[in-house]
Amino acid sequence: MENKQNNKINLNQRIAILGAGAAGLSAAEALKLKGYKHVTLFERTDHAGGKCLSIEINKKNYELGAGILTKNNIIPLRLAKKYKVAIERADIGHSIFVNKSGRQIPQQSLLLKLKVLWQLIFRYRRILKKYKVLELPGFDNLDPSVTLPFAQFAKENKITDLADVFSLFLTGFGYCYADHVPTAYVLKYANWETIVAYLKKQVYIFPKGMQGLWTRVAKEHDIRFNSVITKITRAEKITIVTDAGTDKFDRLIVTTPLDEMLLFMNVSTQETALFKKIMYLDYQTILCTVNNFVEATGYVPDNFIKERAGHPVLWYYRQVGEPVYSFYVLTDKDISTGGVFNESKTFNQTKTFNETKVIDNLKKFVVQMGAEVESVHQFVHWKYFPHIGTEEMNNGFYDKLNNIQGNQHTYYAGEILNFSCVGFTSEYSEHIVNRYF
Ligand SMILES: Cc1cc2nc3c(=O)[nH]c(=O)nc-3n(C[C@H](O)[C@H](O)[C@H](O)COP(=O)(O)OP(=O)(O)OC[C@H]3O[C@@H](n4cnc5c(N)ncnc54)[C@H](O)[C@@H]3O)c2cc1C
Repeated sequence: MENKQNNKINLNQRIAILGAGAAGLSAAEALKLKGYKHVTLFERTDHAGGKCLSIEINKKNYELGAGILTKNNIIPLRLAKKYKVAIERADIGHSIFVNKSGRQIPQQSLLLKLKVLWQLIFRYRRILKKYKVLELPGFDNLDPSVTLPFAQFAKENKITDLADVFSLFLTGFGYCYADHVPTAYVLKYANWETIVAYLKKQVYIFPKGMQGLWTRVAKEHDIRFNSVITKITRAEKITIVTDAGTDKFDRLIVTTPLDEMLLFMNVSTQETALFKKIMYLDYQTILCTVNNFVEATGYVPDNFIKERAGHPVLWYYRQVGEPVYSFYVLTDKDISTGGVFNESKTFNQTKTFNETKVIDNLKKFVVQMGAEVESVHQFVHWKYFPHIGTEEMNNGFYDKLNNIQGNQHTYYAGEILNFSCVGFTSEYSEHIVNRYF
């Protein structure tokens, strides 16, 4: 086994990175800064950015994936500055809330607002201090109490009103239902810096689309787009076989879904056992032109429960004056490869939630609000929010994964290691490079 941490620095090593999303490109940037000269990224699609995916309709930009960053998302903001990619302050605070029938829900009463504020300052802040370890990259050395589902943790810690507010950013943004998601993910995501950034409205968007940031960063690196990896063999060297040929590397950084490594890499028994535990959600973005719809971003808290899976949880009104809206739908399907992996090594695509049903739900919802869907421009299924459940977290999933970092010259990064957010996934990549390279 390679000596992981004391690996002598050899800047001539050939390093392969799987995936040219935020994680892969942040790793490539960090390696470049250290002076590594031979870094190659393998990207399955013909573009960089992964879940930062932006499109144009009538010369206006829309986001199909990530849309906003907060001030504490240091790495993507630093890269935007370095490569002169424009950002601007997001106009947050004009959101509306409607029930499942599309009727507007009145604002929280003053009393409830005060309760939420109390729970935030006097209870939640103390909780964050107690579990300070979550401020570090990754999820190592977790206390068993933070592996509990967040709804249960919130009840036990008397922060249920605050938890209702958090659900806007949890379920609304595609990160499970509160009665399922382990608390560690919530505490990492809703850290104090993020909360302060939201309160101070230090939230940013990319007027030309967040994908543009990664397209720009990608120009600085050697990326093999449209790579179909058919085999990875790890021995003294790492051999990567794609439909374009075979290449050898000294080290490998994986930022792509770990469960999919089971399909083409010579994985160890331990890797197999861990990767099969990872779950994903089928989170969907539906970009539509809607006539006579409300000119605001909106949340539908009634749909934040499993029983309402397949109904919109949120819509985003990005371009003022344009009737184009992104609707977000969470389904209750686990679409992990681990769950559907079979002997013939094929994916079971039928597991994804029925699109016709989702569009039908959406159209009915919009009609209830006196509006009409004119056309659907895009329907994207995201294999989203790689995570593990309470039991696996309690069984030390993350400590085990951390222990195999560097085995067979392989390092793992990406969303599962540090939460599904651009800032977090980038942070972990930088952490891996600083620690092991
Ligand atoms: C609808 C939506 C809204 C979001 N909103 C926000 C937001 O506002 N703010 C925020 O911070 N985050 C947001 N996120 C989350 C954020 O987009 C992701 O967490 C982040 O972009 C993940 O980056 P990554 O590089 O880890 O993974 P990915 O972006 O998934 O990148 C992985 C890359 O690997 C490639 N790949 C996969 N398999 C292979 C393979 N076998 N071989 C080669 N390449 C492969 C993929 O094509 C992809 O380019 C949102 C996500 C979604 C879906």
